[in-house]
Amino acid sequence: MSKAQFGIMSRRVLTPEGIKQAIVLIENGKIAGVTDSPPAGIPIDDAGDNVVMPGLVDCHVHVNEPGRTEWEGFETATRAAAAGGITTIVDMPLNSDPVTTTLPALEAKFEGTENKLWVDTAFWGGVVPGNAGLLESMIDAGVRGFKCFLIHSGINDFPNVTEADLRLAMPILAQRGVPLLVHAELECGEPCEWENGARSYKSFLKSRPRRWENEAIKLMIDLAREYRTAVHIVHLSSSDAIPLIAGARRTGISLSVETCPHYLTFAAEEIADGDPRFKCAPPIRERENREKLWSALQEGTIDFVVSDHSPCTPELKFLSEGDLKRAWGGISSLQFGLSSVWTEACKRGASIEDLSAWMARKPAAFAKLDDRKGRLALGYDADIVVWSPEQKQTIERSMIHHRHKITPYDGRELLGVVKQTYVRGNKVFDSGKFAMEPAGQRIVGTGRR
Ligand SMILES: [Zn+2]
Repeated sequence: MSKAQFGIMSRRVLTPEGIKQAIVLIENGKIAGVTDSPPAGIPIDDAGDNVVMPGLVDCHVHVNEPGRTEWEGFETATRAAAAGGITTIVDMPLNSDPVTTTLPALEAKFEGTENKLWVDTAFWGGVVPGNAGLLESMIDAGVRGFKCFLIHSGINDFPNVTEADLRLAMPILAQRGVPLLVHAELECGEPCEWENGARSYKSFLKSRPRRWENEAIKLMIDLAREYRTAVHIVHLSSSDAIPLIAGARRTGISLSVETCPHYLTFAAEEIADGDPRFKCAPPIRERENREKLWSALQEGTIDFVVSDHSPCTPELKFLSEGDLKRAWGGISSLQFGLSSVWTEACKRGASIEDLSAWMARKPAAFAKLDDRKGRLALGYDADIVVWSPEQKQTIERSMIHHRHKITPYDGRELLGVVKQTYVRGNKVFDSGKFAMEPAGQRIVGTGRR
């Protein structure tokens, strides 16, 4: 064991062998050991009964900088992440301007992060019509994979792909061993009439049926089989697709799936009309659907849970009109992933180990960061969240560190309170307060040492 600079002690440390009383030793930002007998003379932070576990890895975050920083930016997003116990995010290629679909756009993205990162930040690129020839340059510059849409993305500068576009891009991604992340909704069938008006949640839900997700996933399963590309379904909402996904996996194709805290927390039956805070795509569906998503997560068909934090300016949410047709589709939630999922996980008998697997270990592995992130083990980055799983708090606007305070979690009582967050050994967040300086870094490259 090398000489540690300090230790974090708790009666509940989540180690690869389970939860136990231990001291995590930290040296030069890395974990130098997990022990029950600390070397003499090093300072120890005593976390008491609070849980000490790997910092969360949220690989689905729309930071929107540069270009739409008035929606959300690196400074505010990564501070909110730190306050929520997240130590690594992976930024989505939209809704920044430019969108991250070319090398110069990726470089602009990197520049946009300078001195603003409170947590470590990696990047996805985007596949759009016509950019297949540019993908390799972005891989060489450090993106970890690519996102695409099969339906209008919400902004015109990130057009959706067709099957023909995918047939150009997928062999390149397969050859380079990077995943394709897919917004899986495929418009099919009769267009919806919104018969109950633009404030009706029921109408909104009907306008983006489960069928759209199911059809998109079928297409992606076929293409994944044909090209042997690693395909990842982002923000699964339709529980109807779960048997399809499970069946396809049994045939050996590389298919992974995430869902989000809002699909696991809310239910369509409980969403009032005219409240666009709950609008996202695909939509939050019925209670029965939510319970099936929970089962699939607990059985392992859904791999992990990430926020899909997708904020906008307050004007674009059309809150006073309650207009679900015109409102931006995206839920602001980055800071509340841990506590919202834990609140619901507890009701269903899930453990702290489960939570950590869903929100740290597995997303780290998906983003190929599992050689350094997502575990409290020797040689790993000292990315740590200290939190109380028993303490409750009601979310108030004054606690929210996102750029804008609009979120469906406002006013909600959540179980689980983050006490401290360490990024590579730097205590960046402590009892509601931030460190003097940000400590996050950009993560580029293949992620393999
Ligand atoms: Zn998203």
